[in-house]
Amino acid sequence: MLNENDLQRYASQLIMPEIEEEGQSILLKSKILIIGAGGLGNPTAIFCSAAGIGNIDICDHDNIELSNLNRQIAFSIHDIGHYKSRVLKNYCLNLNPNLKINSIIDSFDSQFSVDNYDIILDCSDNIETKYTANILAHKYNKTLISASATQFEGQLAIFKSGKYKNLPCYECIFPKDQHQHTNLNCREIGVIGTVTNLISSLQVTETIRELFIEKSFKKDQSFTKNTLAGNLLLYDCVQHEITKIRLKKNLNCNVCK
Ligand SMILES: [Zn+2]
Repeated sequence: MLNENDLQRYASQLIMPEIEEEGQSILLKSKILIIGAGGLGNPTAIFCSAAGIGNIDICDHDNIELSNLNRQIAFSIHDIGHYKSRVLKNYCLNLNPNLKINSIIDSFDSQFSVDNYDIILDCSDNIETKYTANILAHKYNKTLISASATQFEGQLAIFKSGKYKNLPCYECIFPKDQHQHTNLNCREIGVIGTVTNLISSLQVTETIRELFIEKSFKKDQSFTKNTLAGNLLLYDCVQHEITKIRLKKNLNCNVCK
């Protein structure tokens, strides 16, 4: 199954009974979409590449600015002005050249084709993008792992409303009419880089778990028996707390009712 190089590269993962060679092969065959190559997209793409998720598309049309460098850890001062998704792709390929990583220099909108992905990772800082990702994930029965971080807080949730009718979608939890005037991103209200990086770390852990669940990989069920879907993780670094909140489906939701 795995070649000699892969056996060495992923040795720390393979040694665990919850992963072994079969689990690593699943990761290498998986295909994910990362929406956004900013504060969350940077560490998320890096951790996904390091873990050996084999096919990664990174969608972002922004350019790198000096003010990104407190948190967007794949970028250096030499990258300012270049496309984020392209520089991030090259950073990840430098880390793990055997993966297939594409940069999509475009904005993510309702015309985007998500059908080929196993999982969609929302790393955007724009609520309209989050709503669009939710609609497409629901429509194409995809698992959506949605992350966000501002100031001293971060949150992570998994949505599978297309696959399981009893589970909520993003818009059940964040209804559009209540969020029309709260589209504030990191540039406007700030964030510290350690918060985005922590949320990304949680996001990639859940991605690995969800890929195993999706492919029915249950060699040792301790890692895969509980999905986070239907819950929201909130990290508050002021209070030193991570809280898990059970989410309810909105029976009148415009997207998933
Ligand atoms: Zn909904």
